[in-house]
Amino acid sequence: MKFPLIVKWAITDKCNFSCKHCYRSQRKKEISRENANMIIEELHKERVGCVAITGGEPLMAKEFIYIINSLHEKGIETEIATNGYFITKDIISLFKKNGISTIQISLEGYNSEQNDYIRGCGTFEHIVRNIRFLVSSGINVVLANTLNHANCKDIDNMVKFANDLRVAALRFEIYIPIRDDINGLRLDEKDMQFLKNKFSEYSGYKNIILPVFHSAINCGAGEYMTMINSDMTVSPCDLLCDHVKSELHIDNEHSIKYIWQNDLELKKWRQRPFDGCMLTSKNHFTDYRRMA
Ligand code: SF4
Repeated sequence: MKFPLIVKWAITDKCNFSCKHCYRSQRKKEISRENANMIIEELHKERVGCVAITGGEPLMAKEFIYIINSLHEKGIETEIATNGYFITKDIISLFKKNGISTIQISLEGYNSEQNDYIRGCGTFEHIVRNIRFLVSSGINVVLANTLNHANCKDIDNMVKFANDLRVAALRFEIYIPIRDDINGLRLDEKDMQFLKNKFSEYSGYKNIILPVFHSAINCGAGEYMTMINSDMTVSPCDLLCDHVKSELHIDNEHSIKYIWQNDLELKKWRQRPFDGCMLTSKNHFTDYRRMA
């Protein structure tokens, strides 16, 4: 593939949370306006239809408003994944002005005890208030819930809570211990069995998005999906942003396209035998790191 089909873009590493399940260790880098312009120009030139803006917490990026306006001016649709903390009336107006009708917000449980254990004290109440504000303002909210050992048994309560919040959809993701699992959040075999049964129960629900288990074929990381990092490197996917990234940086001499096609680290990633996604592989991520 000459240019990635799915483009995610971390416009900042900075975040106001320190979630226990975060896969990002860096919290310093942030995109400059000059670099943002370079990326937007190329996405436009390559006719990318949609880009997923992420972070860190994207609403903390000092060029957030500029980037959202610029992408819209270029006719590029924007998806935003946020922790939901910084939603204000002005931010909602910005979304509406730029045709952004759906926002993804993460919540790690149906009550403060469960969510705040992962995301930090007081976050549940604040995020839920902002979700209600968004919904009542006519913005669709996709609620993202990462299932881990501590919260997975409450999947039914999460579904009920999402219904009560009147969100547009509930997306379940699976916790992947990219870094050391010091908090014991890794799903064990019993959890996985329980969840597989639950997923088949919920498979017919059109507003519940279930995780995909990539066991036989590549998930698309580095094949048709990419992550543009805030330090101007390129990774095969957002989860790998700390561990697998291009040697080359996007600049006046190296376009995203050039890096995508020629960077040695990305080539090495593609040549690696695919042993199933980290969800289904017998290997843990540390084994992948050794192989990469
Ligand atoms: S909100 Fe997202 S980026 Fe911030 S610490 Fe939590 S998981 Fe990491």
